[in-house]
Amino acid sequence: MKYFLFALLLILAVVVLLICVAVIKAVTNKKTVSDKKAAISWTKEEEAEYAHCLSEMVKVPTLSKKKGEDYSEFLKLQTVMSELFPNIFTKLEAHHIDGNMLFRWAGKDSSKEGILLMGHQDVVPAEEKEWENDPFSGLIEDGVVKGRGAMDCKSTLCAEFAAVEELLKEGFVPERDVWLASSVNEENSGGGAETLVEYLLSKGIRLSCVMDEGGAVMENAFPGLEVPCAAIGLVEKGFVNLKIIARGKGGHASTPPKNTPIVRLSKFICEVEKSEPFTKAYTSPIPEMFDSIAPYMTFPLRLVLSNMWLFKGVVKKVLPMLSSMGGAFLSTTCAFTMSDGSSAPNVLPDYAYVICNIRPSVHQNAEESVAVLREIAKKYDLEVEVMFSRDASNTSSMDSKEYAYLKKCLNECFPDVVVTPYLMTGGTDCRQFERVCDNCLRFTPTRLTNQQLAAMHAANENIGVSALAEAVKFYRYFIEKQS
Ligand SMILES: [Zn+2]
Repeated sequence: MKYFLFALLLILAVVVLLICVAVIKAVTNKKTVSDKKAAISWTKEEEAEYAHCLSEMVKVPTLSKKKGEDYSEFLKLQTVMSELFPNIFTKLEAHHIDGNMLFRWAGKDSSKEGILLMGHQDVVPAEEKEWENDPFSGLIEDGVVKGRGAMDCKSTLCAEFAAVEELLKEGFVPERDVWLASSVNEENSGGGAETLVEYLLSKGIRLSCVMDEGGAVMENAFPGLEVPCAAIGLVEKGFVNLKIIARGKGGHASTPPKNTPIVRLSKFICEVEKSEPFTKAYTSPIPEMFDSIAPYMTFPLRLVLSNMWLFKGVVKKVLPMLSSMGGAFLSTTCAFTMSDGSSAPNVLPDYAYVICNIRPSVHQNAEESVAVLREIAKKYDLEVEVMFSRDASNTSSMDSKEYAYLKKCLNECFPDVVVTPYLMTGGTDCRQFERVCDNCLRFTPTRLTNQQLAAMHAANENIGVSALAEAVKFYRYFIEKQS
């Protein structure tokens, strides 16, 4: 009894001590963002001018096309852009390949590795019934530019081009080469960016930094984060389309046997959903992201994220329950997106399938993730066909001078914002550039509200006119201060 009491007291003391250490860490880990003035500013006239440029670009419905399809809308967009940004189109070295644009602005010292800014020209369809305006009217109203592509990704493209155009007009010459790149089929992974990379490879060109869409400056990016957050994507997850096939004898639906193809597929789907078969891990930059944002969070979350040595296990369990994004940060995900069975309501299928869209994590690559599902499929006598497969990208380093430079520029231009690395669950053109660059940074310097974020690839896409002006001035700053 005495020993039991002693052990109990000891455990209690250890628990109290751990709690004290955790609380002290959380209290001392509090930071506030700087209240200094931003290094960039702009006039109302400039704001209106940039909004006009973006509006003109949105008016051209450059719907994403596959190779060999009609590219005339893209040529129309390029004509519009050549009128909006005449210096870029007349003064810079241009290498356009199949509608994909590549410009080289020669710097003072071209022996240094250049930087490359990119944004795609294509947009996804705008067929949602919820659109309040014509998605291709380029309407400027209530302080925003509205329409398909207003954010993804013409605002990025417009801001990059407007910044370079202004600097060219002023006779500025960058320290190192500045490249502008834009593909015509990012949205359907059509290979446009690869074509541009092939060109750079053929010329033996390496780049110090590539900046493409990805993270942005987001309000309420994470629950409990009290300040806006500039999230820089350092890695993107892989992409697999898997067809799970069930075969059967078919027959009349009035006398169904057990375990028909759709039943077996359903059992498979339920098991995958319920058993969460993929391994969870904190791969870089997830721990670094927690470290960056923890000091700016409300106390309960600061307590947890400042003490991952203590809460690692709990967070791994709880995070996927709290948010699907949180789950996607930690492991491979699998979404069931399409399916088909027989051709009539009263006919049993002799062939049915379901498509899984898998996003493999860095620590469990495409092949390993597919193997996990193969094992489960076996149990239900299902065939597995890999339709497309790609591993996660490389992870760009947070310790590079290129990341440090981007962070420094953000601290100066967006002083009210916390900068963090993050893992992208979706894909961008940026990964193609890994072959010519070690620092692929997926980030657009644009402030987005939750509504704007939710409207990406959905109805009522829009972007703030002041956010657009801020992005133009940020790109200018980023180019001007390069050494
Ligand atoms: Zn995009």
